[in-house]
This record gives sequence, C-alpha cells and structure tokens, in this order.
Amino acid sequence: MEELTVTGIVLSSMPYKDKDKLIHIFSVELGVVTGILKGVSAPTSKLKFASQPFCFGKFDLVKAKDFYVVKGVDLVDTFFDLTSDYESYKLCSLMLEICKVVMKPNIISESLFLTLLKSLQNIVYSENVNAKLCIIKFMLTVLKIIGYELNFDTCDNCGLKFMGDIKFDVYSGTFRCSNCSGGVIVSKQDFVTLKIIQNTSFEKLNSVKVSLDCQDRIFELCLRDLSSRLNYKFKSFIE
Ligand SMILES: [Zn+2]
Repeated sequence: MEELTVTGIVLSSMPYKDKDKLIHIFSVELGVVTGILKGVSAPTSKLKFASQPFCFGKFDLVKAKDFYVVKGVDLVDTFFDLTSDYESYKLCSLMLEICKVVMKPNIISESLFLTLLKSLQNIVYSENVNAKLCIIKFMLTVLKIIGYELNFDTCDNCGLKFMGDIKFDVYSGTFRCSNCSGGVIVSKQDFVTLKIIQNTSFEKLNSVKVSLDCQDRIFELCLRDLSSRLNYKFKSFIE
C-alpha cells in the first residue's frame, strides 16, 4: 500500500460512520485531500486534535479506496489561542473556507498554503495584530494567486492613470475611472488603504492604522470581489 507524509492544515472535518471522522487536509504536496481518522470519536483516541480545523502538522497517510487513512500526525501547531477570540476565530474560519473553494480537486498551490499559514501565525502570535486587516491582506493575496490581482494604478478599461473619482466596477471586479464605469465611487480613503495593505507585508501590517468603518467597507469589497470571482457565496458574511 502506498504510504506518504504530507505537510498540511485541516480545513474542516465531519463525523463518518460510528467513531470515525473525515478531514479535509490542505497539503503542500497534494492540494486538498480527504483523510479518515479511524476511531477518533472514541474517548481514548490519540488523534483527536487532528480532527480540529486549523490543526497544522505532518500527516502520515496510507492510500485507501476512496480516501487516505491518517495513520499518524506529527503536530506542529493547533492555533489553539484562536478559540479564545470569537471574532478572530470567525475571520480565520473564513480563510479556511476560501481555501476550500479555491482548492478544487487536483489543484496544488504552495503559495496559497504559505499565505494561509503566514496569516494564521500572524493573527495568533503577532503583537497588536488587527485580524481584520490580515484577512483583507489574505483576500488581496488570494485574488492575486487566482489571477485577479487588483490594479491600483490605472483604469482597467481605458488604461489611463487614475484622476478624479475612482469607481469599483462590480461586474468586472476592477477599479475604473468615472468615464468607464457606472459602478459605485470608492472613497479615496478606502482606495488608498487597500493599496497600502496590498503593498505591505503581513509582518508589517500592524503599522497600518485604519478606522473601523473603513475596515468594514474594504473587507466587504474584497469579499464580494472574491465571491464573484469564485462564483461562491460566503454565507456567514454576505446576506
Ligand atoms: Zn477608464
């Protein structure tokens, strides 16, 4: 039987049969794979931690008929501190959901994996971290990875440098000048803040100061754009 070890993060889990659980592991090597944790619902199971979303480690897998059997997990981090802050937990769960939607079967993306890992580490371990800004940065990076990076320099339609009002064209998911789009005007503050976040590394995000209103607006802009690019509704965040 084929045995292999992958480095991955658990995106989600669900009960399976009496005492088993199925987990979706976002791995560097194989993309998203489904693993079965046998007997993990029993009180004595030693692999319980691996059935939790965010579990990061090296997974020893054996290929079975429909999925991989998880034989062992060398734990690196559970990101347990996330459970103490509901808002951060919810935002980080959104990142897992986004990864699950982006990572269709047979897609492998080391860059998305590393972006997810860096975002989680930053949110859990950095001082004075603003989780919402991290998620916005995460979404901007995902847009780039899937080929829809936002362009802050020129109008997507006529190619001219931005002057005057800038609009976000919801149909194309791009910024356009007011001549080229009937979309909604994006305030200078929102536009500049998004541009700064796009150009700031995760490590330095805590130096970016943004009002709560602005955070909410640009968060929604990114999520709506991602949602239309992926043709998927992130239910918990968009009514
Ligand atoms: Zn234009």
